[in-house]
Amino acid sequence: MSQLSVDEQLKGVYVLIVRLRGDADINIGALGSQHFPKGLYWYVGSAQTALEKRISRHLRREKRKFWHIDYLLDNRAAEVEKILFKEAAKTEECTIADEMGQVNRAIVGFGCSDCSCKSHLFYIEQRDFIPKGMTEIETNKLNTLAVFGTPLTSGY
Ligand SMILES: [Zn+2]
Repeated sequence: MSQLSVDEQLKGVYVLIVRLRGDADINIGALGSQHFPKGLYWYVGSAQTALEKRISRHLRREKRKFWHIDYLLDNRAAEVEKILFKEAAKTEECTIADEMGQVNRAIVGFGCSDCSCKSHLFYIEQRDFIPKGMTEIETNKLNTLAVFGTPLTSGY
């Protein structure tokens, strides 16, 4: 396999790598106000239809807040730095969340209203942890995707 191309047919599990540039107390909808220390966070999600639209939505600032992640990404200090992707069934979303939770600190109850996971958002303590088989979505593709949203920075 060479490089991943992003199109409407792609479906699977993705990881948003989010940098928070400063400590923040953020109201996460039904979860209430949560304290987020400055640093890197990984969010695991799945899109079983139209991955591109889902990712574009994550990168757009102006939107109705629906998911917990929308509240986090709405904060000015938060920025999506990288997106990892793997073609996989929805069940793998929770497998990855479980693996991440074993080496990183879970933000309990975040993004897991529909499953029995502890969380789908993690504060990254082990930076070299990458879920098996995930590919980084190309930056130039991301820039295309981000046309209507916040430009992405590359590298971290
Ligand atoms: Zn889950």
